[in-house]
Amino acid sequence: AETERGRLAAIIAHAPVGIVIAEAPSGRIVRGNAMVERILRHPVLHSPDTGAYDEWVAFHPDGRRVEAREYPLARALAERRPVGPLEFLYQKGDGSRGWVQISGAPIRDSQGEVVAALAVLEDIDADKRAAQEREHLLRAIEVERLRLREVFEKAPAFMAVLRGPEHVFELVNPSFFQLVGHREILGRPVHQALPEVEGQGFFELLDRVYRSGEPFFGQEMPVRLQREPGAPREERNVDFVYQPMRDAEGRVTGLIAHGVDVTDQVRARRALEETSRAKSDFLATMSHELRTPLNALLGYLDLLDLEIAGQLSRAQRDQVARSRTAALHLLQTIEEILTFSRIETGGEQPRYAPVDLGLLVREAAALLEPLAREKGLAYQVEVPPAPLVLRTDAAKLRQVLLNLLSNAVKFTDRGEVRLRLQASPADAGACLQVCDTGIGIAPEALPRIFEPFWQVEQSTARRVGGTGLGLSVVRRLATLLGGEIRVQSEPGRGSCFEVELRVES
Ligand code: ADP
Repeated sequence: AETERGRLAAIIAHAPVGIVIAEAPSGRIVRGNAMVERILRHPVLHSPDTGAYDEWVAFHPDGRRVEAREYPLARALAERRPVGPLEFLYQKGDGSRGWVQISGAPIRDSQGEVVAALAVLEDIDADKRAAQEREHLLRAIEVERLRLREVFEKAPAFMAVLRGPEHVFELVNPSFFQLVGHREILGRPVHQALPEVEGQGFFELLDRVYRSGEPFFGQEMPVRLQREPGAPREERNVDFVYQPMRDAEGRVTGLIAHGVDVTDQVRARRALEETSRAKSDFLATMSHELRTPLNALLGYLDLLDLEIAGQLSRAQRDQVARSRTAALHLLQTIEEILTFSRIETGGEQPRYAPVDLGLLVREAAALLEPLAREKGLAYQVEVPPAPLVLRTDAAKLRQVLLNLLSNAVKFTDRGEVRLRLQASPADAGACLQVCDTGIGIAPEALPRIFEPFWQVEQSTARRVGGTGLGLSVVRRLATLLGGEIRVQSEPGRGSCFEVELRVES
């Protein structure tokens, strides 16, 4: 019995769990092993070899202080039955706190009398903290999930999650229902959920994205939907993306479709385009209506001038000449409006042919020269000696030049107007420059002069006349011919317009 007790003592001393033994009925601790002291970080036994758990400081999981009689060791003695395991937050000897699990059991003698109790202590702090951490993480994930859910639910964009090669609707947000109308969607493959979309190309796109793993971006795509049973199909326009969803191995397992219904914007823009087209059509018709009688007027003036119906007095001849000038000016203005509206409606297409630019420049310059001379301006035309031939549209280029030249003459009271043609060696194109020493353009006005109907100053415009269309026609024509127009100007010193023409291949 003595050796057996010694062996038992050795087992207790080296057990990998904390063991404490208290004697009955006093409850005094009579034995505690090294592990207990490791866990609790203070000695369990006082000299002379006794201890008491009423010195222990611990807390229940709900934060209540553990009373001496609540320890499993004390309870096992008092209740004469096994207790626990229970978890306590233990205040350790070094001041730190840690979770400890304690179970208690009574020890009986051969007559069944409770003679002592035994408690087993385990340090569960790491497990407990890991569990807490896990719970914390799970809660954070849940919060995150709810937030995403909210975004999904409240998004003005429509979203749908489709699973598998059949594109089964797994998740759909309210905006999606708003687009397609309220119907049975969840759990159904797309061709069942949206049967009227069959044949509109969308299912093929879904298949393609699913197979290739490449996302698809659609813009203003028209889709005809039957938003209510029995209702006629309605066309909506959508900007959307089909994006593949992949599993951990990178395999495509489904798709996310999301986008916005842009029907209203598309309709508004179409209406605007229509209005704009109607406006241009009206301008064109009006110009025709004006041009016809004006041409008749000019014809009759010619007849008068030819004195077929009788001789004119000097005063009458003079008046006929003035009428002619006025009528011609009016005709020019109408032509400008006509060209502008033709460009606006896209009715102006370039007709390319090889053009001798030197010749074209000299001809255009000659037309404006009398006006410049009349104002007492020097007039210079610089053309390279070698012929410079470019494929372009002669009539349109001539109009560009005439508009720039007439502006130069119009806005210059002294000094000179210079027209220069140069070959640009870099891209085998050509560069045309129209420079003047006129009133110039304020820097803040420069960016706006190419806008239609825009004039630097209403009073200036009234003094010199003009529609405000010249430069916008110039820029549109230049762009149409693949060219680029630039301007440099300094108020009071003059302006320089430059048209860069590239070779049309
Ligand atoms: P407009 O029929 O009035 O000449 P444009 O579109 O040709 O219309 O020109 C717009 C405005 O740009 C003009 O009203 C004028 O204020 C300014 N502008 C154009 N060319 C010149 C220039 N060579 N010198 C000074 N101002 C100019």
